[in-house]
Amino acid sequence: MAFKTIIEPFRIKSVEPIAWTTREERVAHLAAAHHNLFLLPADAILIDLLTDSGTGAMSTHQWAGIMEGDESYAGSPSWVRFRDSVQDIFGYAHVIPTHQGRAAERILFGIVCKPGDVVPNNTHFDTTRANVEFTGAEAVDLPIAEAREPGAEHPFKGNMDVAALEALIDRVGPGRIPLVMLTITNNSGGGQPVSMANARAVQAVCRRHGIPLYFDACRFAENAYFVKLREPGYADQTPKAIAQAMLRLGDGCTMSAKKDGMANIGGFLCTNDDALAQQEENLLILTEGYPTYGGLAGRDLEAIAIGLQEALHEDYLRYRITATRYLGDHLTAAGVPIVRPPGGHAIYIDARAFLPHVPPEQFPGVSLGCALYVEGGIRTVEIGTLMFKDAARHDLVRLAIPRRVYTQSHIDYVVEVVLHVWARRERLGGYGLTYAAPFLRHFTARLAPLKG
Ligand SMILES: *Cc1c(COP(=O)(O)O)cnc(C)c1O
Repeated sequence: MAFKTIIEPFRIKSVEPIAWTTREERVAHLAAAHHNLFLLPADAILIDLLTDSGTGAMSTHQWAGIMEGDESYAGSPSWVRFRDSVQDIFGYAHVIPTHQGRAAERILFGIVCKPGDVVPNNTHFDTTRANVEFTGAEAVDLPIAEAREPGAEHPFKGNMDVAALEALIDRVGPGRIPLVMLTITNNSGGGQPVSMANARAVQAVCRRHGIPLYFDACRFAENAYFVKLREPGYADQTPKAIAQAMLRLGDGCTMSAKKDGMANIGGFLCTNDDALAQQEENLLILTEGYPTYGGLAGRDLEAIAIGLQEALHEDYLRYRITATRYLGDHLTAAGVPIVRPPGGHAIYIDARAFLPHVPPEQFPGVSLGCALYVEGGIRTVEIGTLMFKDAARHDLVRLAIPRRVYTQSHIDYVVEVVLHVWARRERLGGYGLTYAAPFLRHFTARLAPLKG
């Protein structure tokens, strides 16, 4: 199509009012929340970009599926539809439903990892890292060098450093590596895609050493669309064919259906290994549920079965990727420093570069996040010194875009608010902690603006 206006590939049948508040009210809400956006009541937020996880809008087709949900404890037809939809796309022999992605991670790593093992990944998501480390194994991130530079452009910044993988295997030996994982798209690395060529190269190394390859497949559809747009030879293939080809390079996957499953809850674990699947199902029964529902309602299984297929629709993916890029490119054009190029599900503002006068120990990401809320009612999330303490390499503010929830005019509004704060950035100051929990402190921390 020749027209350049992005339109949503859907019309709206049911609407949910959002909360208008005054600046004064937001200042009061923020003070009551101790300047931690996690502690705000969600109904005091106008545009909520905290996360794209479980926050999407379901289609009429999915809501119809919800009504068709069969709640039989065992052997529900909803389970059959779920399994068939997953296998159609993912192609693995065994499908194990779980209540979220992290439950799939806990079961997988709980079985395959032991103390002293090493799990390489392009970049571990935080729950993935935590589940690896909980078993006593070491989680090693092997992103390509370009991924360390927020401003550097690269079409596949989510790729794994294949030479570093080979070196790691040589150093620790394949016997200590129960699996290699590729996260598509690379969430913690800025929502950046992994190329088919990189996945093939990683698979070849894994095969040579007899190590299984698993995908953290949360954004498999967005990754497939980036391959179509950017990798030579894929322009004429459907996102579904590309996703099928990439996932078939692996021996299994973990998945959060709250992302490209287009559902509000759910996940699954897949494997081609019969013996491993049996162990996984036994553990599933112990903590999640019977293998034909795995902690989900029959109606959730229906919503996911349909959502996985909808996530691969090309008109949806075009809108999704274009809308995210639109936000990123408008910020870049105005000089706002962001992680480049724009990823699939989120834009990450570089808060250290945005507020160079606020040192990392005064939480520039918190300062920027609070200003976006006070000025425009927008909620974002800090990914930086508050979240990772001294280990933070960057101070980023993530604007995650829920699926099919906000329209083009909402995005235009977000751009306007960010530019308003950008114009006044010199007035923003640092923050200090008044309370911090011993771990995962960002969820419950309390902060106060520093005087000065
Ligand atoms: C969200 C996410 C997970 C964990 O899934 P939950 O459903 O939140 O437990 C794992 N990996 C990646 C890349 C994710 O984005």
